[in-house]
Amino acid sequence: MNTECIVCGSNIELPDDVETHEIIMCDDCGTDLEVTSVAPLSIQAAPEEEEDWGE
Ligand SMILES: [Zn+2]
Repeated sequence: MNTECIVCGSNIELPDDVETHEIIMCDDCGTDLEVTSVAPLSIQAAPEEEEDWGE
């Protein structure tokens, strides 16, 4: 299973047994991504303490 990083667009490979709410890290930009759904696959940026994702 794979998906695109929502930040940098690079391809991310996920384990076949990935679970909802699992946190994965993009190797390219280092962003933590949370799996919000596995069928269909959906990811979002995980809440991060050092970064402010607000406007
Ligand atoms: Zn990335």
